[in-house]
Amino acid sequence: MMAPLMPHDHRSRLAQAADEARGAGVDAVVVAPSPDLVYLIGYDALPLERLTALIVRPGTDPVLLVPKLEQPRAGDSAAGGLLEIATWRDEGDAYQVIRHMLPRSGTFAVSDRMWAIHVLGLQAVAPEAKLVPASQVLSRLRARKDQGEIELLAQASRSADQAFDRIVRERLSGRQERDVARSLREYLVEAGHDEALFWIVGSGPNGASPHHDPGDREIGAGESVVLDFGGRRAGYCSDITRTVSVGEPSGEVREVHDVVRRAQEAAFQAVKPGVAAEEVDGAARRVIEQAGYGESFIHRTGHGIGLEEHEPPYIVRGNAEPLEAGMTFSIEPGIYLQGCFGVRIEDIVAVTGDGAERLNQASRDLTIVA
Ligand code: ZN
Ligand code: ZN
Ligand code: ZN
Repeated sequence: MMAPLMPHDHRSRLAQAADEARGAGVDAVVVAPSPDLVYLIGYDALPLERLTALIVRPGTDPVLLVPKLEQPRAGDSAAGGLLEIATWRDEGDAYQVIRHMLPRSGTFAVSDRMWAIHVLGLQAVAPEAKLVPASQVLSRLRARKDQGEIELLAQASRSADQAFDRIVRERLSGRQERDVARSLREYLVEAGHDEALFWIVGSGPNGASPHHDPGDREIGAGESVVLDFGGRRAGYCSDITRTVSVGEPSGEVREVHDVVRRAQEAAFQAVKPGVAAEEVDGAARRVIEQAGYGESFIHRTGHGIGLEEHEPPYIVRGNAEPLEAGMTFSIEPGIYLQGCFGVRIEDIVAVTGDGAERLNQASRDLTIVA
């Protein structure tokens, strides 16, 4: 049974965004079609050459500007009934229209994902304005998930676990990587995802390339295989990695898998509110360094996840940002031995009031498959 979900509280998100803008000295936030727009008003618009923009200003009601022909779609989304929807027509100049909705000058925060053509159009009609990236205003807000969002992420993670549990019951030996990838895509959707977003299958030496594109290599007996895949379910993303062994693993694979597993556990144990993101990275890295594989852990320990597959907070050395309850991110240390094999183990975790919970439950043992 799935828990009934609360509708997202867009009204309070808009109010919080205006507060964050005020606190950051930003006079207007201009949000293009992007996950930011979905987060704030529940309108999943396609980025187009025609300008669509939500304007959030401290002390003023928010307004959504859309091309006239998109008005029905915008109205059908959560944005209808939530805020004023203004329109412009194809014969008109969208930038002149938006100019009148913005202060004459000041600091405008524009979506990180706004197309350059629109940023330049905005800059041309507001030459006095200083443009900054909207992540400065919105990413802290988006990084702290509410209960409803965490439940959606947990559901997406459980679906990804199911896809993993299914693939390991199959024979992998003798199959091409891309064939296994195709099965993973199917299983994600059959387990409840709306779409699969990525499907890494790295067998044998290909496992040493963290983002390997599955190809026509045949998976051989005795090899390890890195499986890293995920998708989107009800708007929220999943992302899981497990490394399996086709038949009995070599002593080296067993040892490296054990190190990565201990590193992953150490990072998980380090998570609690107030701890710096980089300390979680450090906890994983120390285990791998002490085992003598420090040079082979060639990426950060994790990334935030939510409406996007990769978003703040980043679990990386140099990020002193303190973790807060409600943050969700991956913990995915790995060891990559060029020409031989690679091992990575990845779970999505959520920061709780006094620690963390794992949203993925698939076995972290070295699973042996046929
Ligand atoms: Zn990755
Ligand atoms: Zn992943
Ligand atoms: Zn990941």
